[in-house]
Amino acid sequence: MSIANDCEAFIKEITPFLSPGQIERQEPMERHTTFRVGGVADCVVYPATIEDVRRILSLTVRYGLPLTVMGNGSNLLVRDKGIRGVVLIFGKPAAYIERRGMRLIVGAGTLLGAVAQNALQEGLSGLEFAAGIPGSLGGAVFMNAGAYGGEMKQIVTRITALDGAGKTIEYATEEAQFGYRTSIFQENQHIICEVEVSLTKGDPGEIRVAMEALNERRRQKQPLEYPSAGSTFKRPPGYFAGTLIDETGLKGLSIGGAQVSEKHAGVIINRGGATAEDILALIAEVQRRVFEARGIKLIPEVRIVGEE
Ligand SMILES: Cc1cc2nc3c(=O)[nH]c(=O)nc-3n(C[C@H](O)[C@H](O)[C@H](O)COP(=O)(O)OP(=O)(O)OC[C@H]3O[C@@H](n4cnc5c(N)ncnc54)[C@H](O)[C@@H]3O)c2cc1C
Repeated sequence: MSIANDCEAFIKEITPFLSPGQIERQEPMERHTTFRVGGVADCVVYPATIEDVRRILSLTVRYGLPLTVMGNGSNLLVRDKGIRGVVLIFGKPAAYIERRGMRLIVGAGTLLGAVAQNALQEGLSGLEFAAGIPGSLGGAVFMNAGAYGGEMKQIVTRITALDGAGKTIEYATEEAQFGYRTSIFQENQHIICEVEVSLTKGDPGEIRVAMEALNERRRQKQPLEYPSAGSTFKRPPGYFAGTLIDETGLKGLSIGGAQVSEKHAGVIINRGGATAEDILALIAEVQRRVFEARGIKLIPEVRIVGEE
């Protein structure tokens, strides 16, 4: 059986369990990534519940279909040939926030910005650093997203995930092995379904001021006017990727529609019409030139997926 046939069989079996709009065929991934690039995915499914995730997982195993998990696509580069098999997108159907005392129980598809706004309204402090990071909660835990001295590790107290066999596993903070832009989920590929964040009591006025100040810093420093995936490279120990790239004279370097931002050298932007191929070539060129000039190997922070 071909992947196309297996996908059809998968769709036929999963459809009765989903609501209309929870499944799509032949979906262009440029619609789902902040880079605005990426070819077509065979099949996209938007789970609403942990049961949906379990069912999707078990059917992809049964049909031997590759499964790609994503959230808001804000740290993803999808190749031009797209994604074979099933893409599980944690989006609106998996977005919810429930308050329990000083804790928020959040669906993996909820946007960080929405959780931060909710915390602000509830007078809960701790998420100020995250207000401007455009990811989902699941993606933010997977990446241990952070900014301005804050990171997910500081506020996440429990994670509910599914392992490859569909078994529910609860993780406490220390079990998640958070590090700089990494977590255990990058190793074990467990699917993050729900996240508990623990916050402290705060003054809504002060929280708002802090969020606005950080967002203003972002607007000044980052090329938010162009599609990108934020920082392209991880920070090498002891350096800033953007500074190294700038000092190597690479600001403005372009390949096709991809460009090293002139505003922030650590960010590759889509100036318009960029392909994944352009971006990958530019990443490789930046790595090559920085290594030549400084002997430092830049490692992409952006995750690269899709058919080669
Ligand atoms: C303008 C801009 C600014 C940014 N600023 C920052 C910043 O300040 N700090 C920072 O850390 N990042 C920043 N980023 C990067 C990005 O927002 C974060 O990495 C974010 O956490 C990614 O979340 P996502 O939902 O978009 O994940 P995606 O890009 O969809 O996925 C990223 C990875 O997480 C995995 N994943 C996603 N959801 C799940 C899940 N539920 N279960 C298991 N695995 C999952 C995917 O398989 C993939 O490997 C920025 C990006 C942009 C575009």
